[in-house]
Amino acid sequence: MKKEDCIFCKIANGEIPSATLYEDENFRVILDLGPASKGHALILPKEHSANLYELPDETAAKALILAKKIISRMTRALGCDGYNIVQNNGEAAGQTVHHFHMHLIPRYQGDQVGLGWQVGELTDADKNEILEKFQSTED
Ligand code: AMP
Ligand code: ZN
Repeated sequence: MKKEDCIFCKIANGEIPSATLYEDENFRVILDLGPASKGHALILPKEHSANLYELPDETAAKALILAKKIISRMTRALGCDGYNIVQNNGEAAGQTVHHFHMHLIPRYQGDQVGLGWQVGELTDADKNEILEKFQSTED
């Protein structure tokens, strides 16, 4: 299904032009308009899912295989030194466009791309609580 007011539905399905690196029947891969680094791309499924929670398993599996293919080609094309794959779910996690997408971010030795976090500490209390709560939920 496409969502009427979703910009990534329109881009993925070619209704809005984009800098397209790759397209097949399920996905379009485009260059991000606000790149974190040179070559930052987005994998967009053509079918609308708001986030990973909603994404069909089959599409999720294909998306990761496609990510592997694109970053391998882009690494050869751009000569980058590494890659981050980022995928945000929910506003609290920084998601601004609510159509599932994967960020493919080339990394260059010494670049200033800020994707880090402050390292915390796993306390015994947190560890026990999380393990207990997770195990008590259904798959
Ligand atoms: P997120 O914060 O994970 O939802 O990422 C949304 C990404 O989409 C950001 O990196 C934006 O720069 C990018 N973006 C938003 N609109 C467009 C657009 N029309 N074409 C290409 N990239 C876009
Ligand atoms: Zn959409």
